[in-house]
Amino acid sequence: MRVALIVRTLISANSRTEAARRDLLVVLILVSAVMLLIWNGGSLLQIATEGRSASFGTSMKVAATALILNVALILFGWRRYVDLQHEAELRADGERRAAIMASTDSLTGLANRKGFADGLQQLNAEISTAGRHVAILSVQLQRFKAVNDRHGYDVGDELLRRLASHIRQELPADAVIARLSGDEFAVAVACDCDNRERVEQAGEALLRILGRSYDIDGTLAQVGAFLGIAVQPAASDSRPADLLRRADIALERARSARSARPVWFDASMEQALIARSELEHALRLGLEHDQFVPFFEPQVDLRSGEIIGFEVLARWQHPTRGMIRPDVFIPVAEDIGLIGLLSEKVIGAALAAARDWDAKLTISVNISPTQLSDPCLTQKIVRLLEEAGFPAERLIVEITESSLFADLELARSIAAALKGHGISLALDDFGTGFSSLSQLRSLPLDMIKLDRSFVTTLMAERQSAAIVRAVTTLGSAIGVPVMVEGIEDAPTHAAVLALGARRGQGWYFGKATSADRTAELLTRNLAGPLEAPTSPPRLRAAS
Ligand code: C2E
Ligand code: MG
Ligand code: MG
Repeated sequence: MRVALIVRTLISANSRTEAARRDLLVVLILVSAVMLLIWNGGSLLQIATEGRSASFGTSMKVAATALILNVALILFGWRRYVDLQHEAELRADGERRAAIMASTDSLTGLANRKGFADGLQQLNAEISTAGRHVAILSVQLQRFKAVNDRHGYDVGDELLRRLASHIRQELPADAVIARLSGDEFAVAVACDCDNRERVEQAGEALLRILGRSYDIDGTLAQVGAFLGIAVQPAASDSRPADLLRRADIALERARSARSARPVWFDASMEQALIARSELEHALRLGLEHDQFVPFFEPQVDLRSGEIIGFEVLARWQHPTRGMIRPDVFIPVAEDIGLIGLLSEKVIGAALAAARDWDAKLTISVNISPTQLSDPCLTQKIVRLLEEAGFPAERLIVEITESSLFADLELARSIAAALKGHGISLALDDFGTGFSSLSQLRSLPLDMIKLDRSFVTTLMAERQSAAIVRAVTTLGSAIGVPVMVEGIEDAPTHAAVLALGARRGQGWYFGKATSADRTAELLTRNLAGPLEAPTSPPRLRAAS
C-alpha cells in the first residue's frame, strides 16, 4: 500500500515537472514572438502602407515574424491538446479507481454488495450460453460480535482479513467472493446442473475455514458460520438478486435450526416465509383491532368439584380464519416484540371481565419468557389491576420453568416485586424443564403446576403415576399447592385424586371458553363444561 502511494506521488510529481517544462517552452516562444512583433512593428506598418513596393528586407522580416508566430500558435495548440489528453487520462484513471473502490470492501479487498452484483451478472453472462448453473452460498458468521467485544475491533478486523484471504485461496478461481456486511459473506460459483458436488464442497470448505481458530498477535479468535445455498440455471429468467434472496432464506433456515452443515434452499422455505410474514402483518392488524381475547379454563378442587379459579388463555378471533390457538401466534408475537402489548390487552380484558365474578375465584395469567426481561413488567401488571379494579390477591402469575432458568436472578427480583404487591406466583409446566429443587426453594412460589404430559400418560405409564405422586408429596412437604394440568376424563380424575392431587384443570372440567359464556356458567352455577368431550361432573363455583 505504502509503496503504491510513493509510486503514485512520484508519477504525479514527474508529470507536474514535465508540464511546467512545457509551459516554460511555450511561454518563451510566445514572448519571443511578441518581441519580434514589436521589433518588426515598423516593417509591418511599411508593408501595410507601401504594399508590393516595400523592400525585400522588410518583407523577409515580416515573413519571419509570421513564421515564428505560427510556430508559437502551433506549439500553444499542441500544448493545449497534450494538457487536455492528460486531463482526460487522469479523469479516466480516477473514475476507474472510484469504480473499483465503489465495488470493493476496503477492509478485506473482497467485493462488496455492488461488486458482488456486478460479478454475479458477469458470471451469469459467461456461463449462460454453456447451459450451466450458478450457485450462491450465503454465509453469516456466528459470534463475531463477541470477538469484537472481547478482543477489540483491531482483532476483529484482522480476523476478517484472514478469513477473506483463506476463502480466496481455497475457493475456485472463478468464484465471485464478497463481504456483504459486517459478518455476512456471499460466494457465487458456476456448477453443472447434475453435479452439485462442487457447490457442496465449496460450502464445506467455507464452513471449515470459518470454523478454525486464528492466532492474531497472540490472541486466539474463533467464530463459526451458518450457510445457505441456492442454485438456478445461469440462463434463467429470474434475476440474480432473487437467487441471493433465496440463498438468504436458506441461510435463515440454517440459522434457526443452528445447522452445522450447508442448508439448500427449497420452495417450501419461501412459502413458509411468505406465510410467516402474512401472519406477522395480520397479528399487527389484529392487535390494532382488538382481535385478541381472553378465554377462561376452569380450575377445580378435585375432591369437591368446585371451581376455584380460571386460567386465562389467549385466543385470536381472526375475521376469516376463525379462532386461532396461542401456539400459533404467541411465538410470532414474541419474535416480533409484540408479546408485551398482546399480553397487556388480554390480561386487561380478562381482569375487567372477571372483576364481578365470585370474589373467591382466582385468575391465573401466563407470562412469556421474553416478558420477564421487561423491567417494568410488575408496574404494568399493577396498572392493569388498578384500571380494572381487580384485587391483587386474586391474581396468579404463571411463569414457566424454562423462563426461570434463562435468568434466575431477574426472575427472583420480579417474583419479589409481584409478591410485594400481593400477587401470587405459579410455576407453570413443572417437569418439562430442569425441575430444579433449588428453584423451588429459592422462589416464593404459591403454586406448582404439574405439566399435562405426565397426566395424559398416567393410565399407560407407571412412571407418570410415580411422578404425579412424588410432585404432590413434594408440594405438601414444602407447603406449596400443586395444580395438575390436563385431566381429560373421569378415570384420570379418579387416578390423580388417588395419587394425592387436590387441585386440577383439564378438558374433563371444561375447555377454555369466552368471558361471556364463563360468566353465564357461573351465574347459572350448574351446567358442566361447555365443550367437554366426555360427560363431566357438575361443577359448582366455590362458595
Ligand atoms: P399452558 O399455560 O400450559 O396452558 C394450558 C394449555 O393446555 C392450554 O392450551 C389448554 O387449552 C391446554 N389444555 C388444558 N387442558 C387440557 C387437556 O385436558 N388436554 C389437552 N390436550 N390440553 C389441555 P392453549 O390454550 O393452546 O395454550 C397453550 C399455551 O399457550 C399455554 O400453555 C401458555 O403457555 C400459552 N399461552 C396461552 N395464553 C397465553 C397468554 O395470554 N400469554 C402467554 N404469554 N402465553 C399464553
Ligand atoms: Mg399456563
Ligand atoms: Mg401449563
